[in-house]
Amino acid sequence: SAAISIRNLVKRYAGTKGAPGKLALDDVSFDVPQGQIFGLLGPNGAGKSTLINTLAGMVMKTSGEVSIWGFNIDKDARNAKRAIGIVPQEIVFDPFFTPAEVLEIQAGYYGIPKAARRTMELLAAVHLTDKAGAYSRTLSGGMKRRLLIAKAMVHTPPVLVLDEPTAGVDVELRRQLWDLVTELNAQGVTVVLTTHYLEEAEELCDSIAIINHGKLIANKPTRELVGMA
Ligand code: ADP
Ligand code: ADP
Repeated sequence: SAAISIRNLVKRYAGTKGAPGKLALDDVSFDVPQGQIFGLLGPNGAGKSTLINTLAGMVMKTSGEVSIWGFNIDKDARNAKRAIGIVPQEIVFDPFFTPAEVLEIQAGYYGIPKAARRTMELLAAVHLTDKAGAYSRTLSGGMKRRLLIAKAMVHTPPVLVLDEPTAGVDVELRRQLWDLVTELNAQGVTVVLTTHYLEEAEELCDSIAIINHGKLIANKPTRELVGMA
């Protein structure tokens, strides 16, 4: 089955008095195949974050069906949530914890017993082994972003979703993050990322879905899409 299946997804945000709410997702349907790096491409305001936040359970959809790794997000929310790791755009961990502590606390949220935790393995995967005991506030921006990725992987989800992972980062860090995404994918993780850079989607992604004004306007293997342009 698909890693993520989205059918007729609609999100209309609540309006203010007299004004209708914004239709942020307008009857969106597509599948993310297992094993891919899948790009969700669109300009600012297209609906990308709304879609990601719906997958993460942070936005309540208006209608439609969503399944993650075969688990329906309404009927089987617990399993659906465990099948996905979300890397948010903003850095959200406590700066006074160390990377190892950030991952231990996250493992605690998931009820993962101490013996089953993969803290050092995860830090190695994001190339932060030698920073395990440093205060997070002393890490560079790139190190913090890599720690966020490790945090999203604590419960070993088969699907990793990154919301604009390279927005506002310099060329070198972008390259680092691309390499990391490629490494994780090579280890079997299905990756979904949102971006407004066509170049990024082309370079990294096996398939690209384009959304604009809340509508899906294309969904193709990258080489077919590039051929079209
Ligand atoms: P993107 O991530 O592609 O930039 P978003 O999903 O953030 O797009 O936004 C899609 C549309 O929904 C935009 O018009 C945005 O202003 C609107 N929107 C986003 N969040 C909210 C909200 N909480 N309440 C009302 N409108 C929202
Ligand atoms: P619970 O379902 O156990 O109440 P919460 O929603 O309170 O979990 O989340 C606990 C912590 O895990 C928070 O830091 C939250 O941001 C984070 N979190 C929850 N779901 C995910 C996910 N899929 N990927 C990454 N972090 C997550």
